[in-house]
Amino acid sequence: MRVLQCDDVTVRFGATVAVDDVSLTVDEGSVLAVLGPSGCGKSTLLRAVAGLEPLAGGRIAWDGRDLAGVPTHERGFALMFQDGQLFAHASVADNIGYSLRLRRVPAAQRRRRVDELLELVGLPGYAARRPATLSGGEQQRVALARALAAEPALLLLDEPLSALDRSLRERLAGDLREILVATRTTAVLVTHDHDEAFTIADRMAVMLAGRVVQEGSTAEVWRAP
Ligand code: ADP
Ligand code: ADP
Repeated sequence: MRVLQCDDVTVRFGATVAVDDVSLTVDEGSVLAVLGPSGCGKSTLLRAVAGLEPLAGGRIAWDGRDLAGVPTHERGFALMFQDGQLFAHASVADNIGYSLRLRRVPAAQRRRRVDELLELVGLPGYAARRPATLSGGEQQRVALARALAAEPALLLLDEPLSALDRSLRERLAGDLREILVATRTTAVLVTHDHDEAFTIADRMAVMLAGRVVQEGSTAEVWRAP
């Protein structure tokens, strides 16, 4: 089984220690939620895993391979943010198929995969739509389909539902959990929302001021005082 392993990871911005000596592992096929208040270093940790922040100390490895010096696009990971950042002038199908196109997947095969993904995220028939014609929740579903298109080794989710209103967030959290399980996707979810973490993740790491202060299965961490 492959594993994402963070050992004593530290990220600094000048005098600010955004991530302070964090060690974590994420097993293949599982979902880890990194939970904590705004400014505690969650996004920075995720960005470091993605290769978007240099480490001041420690090591990040996937499947035993040290990722130091491995650029973002060679890590085989996919990222999804609060604002899905869809390409506004491209159709839903072209947004979802983007990474496949980069990989020169033939058009017919790409089309099949796009249809399969639209089905998976509950948007069959949306292929020709433009992002501006979709609701916020639909846009995030498309962003998820795009992130999953190339079957990433690891899916990195940074507050993917935070821009949505509460009832929609709850529904989408349940759907997201089902989709991650159905596709056996390994994921790290950054969120400040306990309910969301509990619904979506298998394990939780609670961060405070750059440090992981608690880690365990969602049930264990949930019950803790
Ligand atoms: P969270 O995702 O938990 O809200 P962040 O990882 O965004 O927290 O931020 C952690 C700390 O690092 C904060 O003090 C934040 O101000 C600081 N920080 C994040 N990004 C930068 C940056 N690019 N330059 C300087 N400081 C930053
Ligand atoms: P191209 O090489 O031009 O991207 P494609 O066959 O991928 O060729 O796409 C041609 C057009 O068909 C694009 O505008 C795309 O948005 C649309 N398209 C792609 N997949 C689907 C689909 N599953 N259903 C409907 N339209 C699609």
